[in-house]
Amino acid sequence: MSGAATRPARAASAPTERPDGGAAETARAAKLARRLEELELDALLVDSLVDVRYLTGFTGSNALVLLVADAARARLGGHRFLSDFRYATQSAEQVPGVFAREIVQGELIEELASALAGDGGGRLGFEEASVSVKCHRRLAELLGRDWELVPCAGVVAGARAVKDAEEVARIRAASELADEALRTLLEAGLVGRSEREVAIELELCMRRLGAQAPSFPSIVAAGPRGALPHAEASDERIPADVLVTIDWGALHEGYCSDCTRTYATGEGVSARAREIYELVLRAQQRGLDALRAGPSGREVDARAREVIEQAGQGEHFGHGLGHGVGMEIHEAPRLARTAPEDQPLRAGNVVTVEPGVYLPGVLGVRIEELAVVREGGCEVLTGLPRELTVVS
Ligand code: ZN
Ligand code: ZN
Repeated sequence: MSGAATRPARAASAPTERPDGGAAETARAAKLARRLEELELDALLVDSLVDVRYLTGFTGSNALVLLVADAARARLGGHRFLSDFRYATQSAEQVPGVFAREIVQGELIEELASALAGDGGGRLGFEEASVSVKCHRRLAELLGRDWELVPCAGVVAGARAVKDAEEVARIRAASELADEALRTLLEAGLVGRSEREVAIELELCMRRLGAQAPSFPSIVAAGPRGALPHAEASDERIPADVLVTIDWGALHEGYCSDCTRTYATGEGVSARAREIYELVLRAQQRGLDALRAGPSGREVDARAREVIEQAGQGEHFGHGLGHGVGMEIHEAPRLARTAPEDQPLRAGNVVTVEPGVYLPGVLGVRIEELAVVREGGCEVLTGLPRELTVVS
């Protein structure tokens, strides 16, 4: 790696106008810049908008970030943020001063690569899951031989998986809002309403309580439809004496919540339904008991799955035990049979614990809590009762 000590001047950016100065984002960028040293990268191209938002606070729809390793700063300059003219004002308000802001006219990737081509070369990391083959080809063309393109997997996502106290507070607020919306919804009962009506009403409740949006389309599935883990709410009327699964969440201040409850719509639900419910609840408790910093997501999944397998229902629990939740509804880490064995859960991970048993054509039960992983245990954020409750 060689290169001149000076670099061409680029559009200077004014200090950020954010009241907090973007302290959290500035700290995140500094932490990741140190991580780049471990990965032996000079810089990392960040093209996923959610990763860009995590690093800069920018909420618009077109942006790129170049994170520069500490050792390469003298040569490459500081971190860069690129967007287009639509976001000149918004990015000035949102993006902290540690990023040199550049408002460019052409394709962001072309502008960045052309600028980097004159910077002497090095190792440039990119996210292998999000950079397309087309984009990779163009980067290689523009950067030339001095730059080595290094595929990376989840560098920013790995940092996002461990939440700080402020992020946990936002997820907790989203979760409390979602709990409150459900309580309001249930006051009007379930029997006789269509699944779709219930889903719409729940989403309205969340919006009225201050949510930006639902964190995903709500699932309301009654009776045999409950056996479809990702059923879309239909126009079917909810009958009495069946199980109804409701899976919903709120997006609040940029963070998601996720929860599932299965209710009985009358005391007349079958003994089989009650038995399956108790089984799923036991499995969930086992999962929550095993959830702490140290074991892998695969181990925690196995502890809960064991309960369902021992009851002979293993084949009816076809999905993973849980997933990370944060800026996105599904993010790292995963609690699943296929989760990596060598990646221990870490304090600050926020995950769901959501076992389910689905008897095709008959019924389904899923119970889902949202929890923060701590040293020695976990803290459940969901505030709703977990035992089988009758709502008619
Ligand atoms: Zn869910
Ligand atoms: Zn979930």
